[in-house]
Amino acid sequence: MSIVVELTQLTIAEAASMLSAGHVSAEELLVAHLEVGENADKLNAMITRTTDRALKQARQSDHRRVNGESLGPMDGIPIAVKDLFCTKGVKTTAASKILEGFVPSYESTVTQNLWSAGAVLLGKTNLDEFAMGSANMTSYFGPVKNPWRARSGPAAGKDIVSGGSSGGSAAIVAARAALGAIGTDTGGSIRQPASFCGIVGMKPTYGRCSRWGIIAFASSLDQAGPMARCVEDTAIMLQAMAGHDPNDSTSASIAVPDFCAALGDGVKGLRVGIPKEYTMNDMPAEVQATWDQGREWLEHAGATCTEISLPYTDYALPCYYIVAPAEASSNLARYDGVRYGLRIDGDTLDEMYQNTRGAGFGPEVRRRIMIGTYVLSAGYYDAYYVKAQKVRSLIARDFETSFFDVDVILTPTAPSSAFAIGEKMDDPLAMYLNDIFTVPASMAGLPAISVPTRLDGAGLPLGLQLIGRAFDEDTIFRAAKVLEDAAHFKCIP
Ligand code: GLN
Repeated sequence: MSIVVELTQLTIAEAASMLSAGHVSAEELLVAHLEVGENADKLNAMITRTTDRALKQARQSDHRRVNGESLGPMDGIPIAVKDLFCTKGVKTTAASKILEGFVPSYESTVTQNLWSAGAVLLGKTNLDEFAMGSANMTSYFGPVKNPWRARSGPAAGKDIVSGGSSGGSAAIVAARAALGAIGTDTGGSIRQPASFCGIVGMKPTYGRCSRWGIIAFASSLDQAGPMARCVEDTAIMLQAMAGHDPNDSTSASIAVPDFCAALGDGVKGLRVGIPKEYTMNDMPAEVQATWDQGREWLEHAGATCTEISLPYTDYALPCYYIVAPAEASSNLARYDGVRYGLRIDGDTLDEMYQNTRGAGFGPEVRRRIMIGTYVLSAGYYDAYYVKAQKVRSLIARDFETSFFDVDVILTPTAPSSAFAIGEKMDDPLAMYLNDIFTVPASMAGLPAISVPTRLDGAGLPLGLQLIGRAFDEDTIFRAAKVLEDAAHFKCIP
C-alpha cells in the first residue's frame, strides 16, 4: 500500500495526532488527497477545486506547527464544502445556472469557523440545485456518481446516485478524496446521502450552527452539519462549526459543549425509543433487519429499547412539501437578474425577470417555486400553509412527549439503499419518499445522525438514524459511537 493511500484512509482524529506529532505535514496530507481527488473526478462530486488556496492554507498550518503554536484537531485537515456555503472570493453556485459568475464578497460563518480552526479547503462540492432533491440529479452541473457499485439487483452494472442534496460531499468523503466535508440538511440532505455512501452524517439541532452566508432554501429548516467517516470525526467537525452568531437571529445563544468528552461513555441505562409508525409495509426486509440489529446492539450495550408512538409521522412529508417550497419560493425571489449572477435581457423589466428566471432555474426548482407560490397565495394560504404550520407543531409535540420516556430514537435513515442514476426522475413523489424517515426530525428542529451499519445484498450501504432532544447532540454521538463500534463498518467502495 503506498503512503498516499494510507494518508487518505486516516480519520480526522488520527490525522490530527499524526500532524501534531510531526509524523506528517499538512502539505503532505493535502497532496495525498489531491491525488485521490483526481481519480475521483469521474464522480463529478466537485464543482470548483481550490488547490492554490488549499496549498496556502496547508503551509500556514505547517508554519503554526513549526512555530510551536498549540493546534486544534481541525488544523491542517483537508475538507470539502457543499457549494451552498458562500466562500469569499471563491465561486459559489448552489448548483444553479442562475448564480453563474457569482463570487461572494463574504464568508459564511460556519466556513469561517472552520478556517479559523485551521481547516484546509479542497473545493466546493456538487449538490442538488439549491439543495432541492434526494439524489443529486437536479444539479446544473450534472449528477454525482456514488463511488459504490451494486454487485446485484436492478442497479447492478449501472452508475448509482450518491443521494442528495449533499451528494457531492458524501461521495468525496466516501471516495477518500477528503477527510471530511460539510453539508446542509433541510429535510434529510446530510443524513440520506451519508446513508447512501456509507459514511456518517450529522444534522445538528436547528440553531446550533449559524445559517449566515448559507444560500437559503427553507430558512426555518436549513441547518449545516458535518459528514465524515466516523462518529468521532463528525463530533470534532461540529465542535469547530457550531456556536452563536449575532449575524443569524435564529442561531442559539447556548454554550457549545465538548462533543468528544462523552463519546466513549456508552449507553448503559439509556432509554431508546423505536417508533412504530416508521415501520412501512413495503419496507425492504434488509432495512427492517438492520433496524432490528441496531436495537439489539444498543440493548447489548446496556440500553433499554421500547416501542413508542409518534402518531403524526404520516403527515410529516406532505407537511414538509408545503412548508419547504413556500419558504423556497420566497427565498428565491431575490434571483431576479438584477442583483446576482445570470441576467437575460428582455424588452421590459417583467420580461427580463421572466427570461432570467425561466432560463436560470431547473425544472425541480421551478416546480418548488410554483408549489410554494400557490400555497402562499391569498385564497390558499390558510388551507395549506397555515394548516401545515399547525401540523408541524403537532409533529414537534409528538417528539416532545416521547422524550419524557426515552432519551434517543432509533430508525432507519432511508427506506432503501442507493438506486441507479435516472431512476425515480419522472416520479417526483417517489423521489420525495426518500425523505420519509428524515423529514420528521427536521420539522421538529431536532438533531439526528446517520451511521453506516452494513451492506445490503446488492453490496450497497445501509444506515441507521438516531434522533435526539434539542441541543442534546452529546447523547446522539454517544449512542452513535456504540452503533458504530458494534457495526464495525469498515467496507471501502
Ligand atoms: N430531499 C429533500 C428535498 O428535496 C431534502 C433536501 C434537503 O434537505 N436540502 O427537499
